[in-house]
Amino acid sequence: MSGAAIPPDRRTIIASLRDYVEQLREEGMEGVPAPTRAPVASAAAPRGSNTSGVSGSQGAISAPLTATSPPAARSVAAAGSSAPTELFYLYPGLEKTSDLTGLREFIGECQRCKLAPRRTNLVFGVGNPNAELMFVGEAPGADEDARGEPFVGRAGQLLTDIIERGMGMTRAEVYICNVIKCRPPENRNPELDEVAACEPFLFRQIDIIRPRVIVGLGTFAVQALLKIKTPISKLRGIWHEVRGTRMMPTFHPAYLLRNAGDKRLVWADIQEVMKVLGRPIPQRGARV
Ligand code: URA
Repeated sequence: MSGAAIPPDRRTIIASLRDYVEQLREEGMEGVPAPTRAPVASAAAPRGSNTSGVSGSQGAISAPLTATSPPAARSVAAAGSSAPTELFYLYPGLEKTSDLTGLREFIGECQRCKLAPRRTNLVFGVGNPNAELMFVGEAPGADEDARGEPFVGRAGQLLTDIIERGMGMTRAEVYICNVIKCRPPENRNPELDEVAACEPFLFRQIDIIRPRVIVGLGTFAVQALLKIKTPISKLRGIWHEVRGTRMMPTFHPAYLLRNAGDKRLVWADIQEVMKVLGRPIPQRGARV
């Protein structure tokens, strides 16, 4: 069958599976077959495009930025400004929320997707509403669901170490949230319909906070932010842009708990972030 004959949604699924297998191989899983041909580039359709009908350009600008690109213009993504609002079409009025309190009220006791009935708490996000730096993870786990706060479990402790000991900042100075606000059962990967239902709230958080830099934590968050299916190992360390804001993809802290050797790569990514923020880089001894 030729590529053209494959409906776009099937191409997307095939590309996703291919990238997932490639990612498993790169993460060292044994017995995973090598891909027989290159990933289907054209299948990098926006996540959930077949359910949302939204084109892929609103959430992200997929071209990587070079190290010398000018800093992202904060004004581009101003709340109620020219930041594209097409992503918000599911939720009329979302584009009018002008602060995090208003956005949280807009979300309310959310029942918009199938994760709602099993959650204990909706995990909206924590930190400085005027943060220069925003961390975006995947979805709450059990600890986060119980406490209603992102990144408070083991992976969260490592993220806190990165922020405090690695960057010399505090959790209260930055903003931390996830793509998905409710815990997927048994910590399974979030599904397309759940992402489609929840991601408008993340993009609105970005528009409202207008951080100078976003750090995307792990494959899932980065792929959701950029609306592409490239593995994190190929994206990390390279500046991208999301809604007018620089975004640095890096490995998820949970991955680092299993692959401590890759902490040095995360440290390299974090140093790039600190350079852009104009912050001093702590001495080696302070690092995680
Ligand atoms: N992993 C995430 O991606 N987010 C959390 O809040 C906790 C763990």
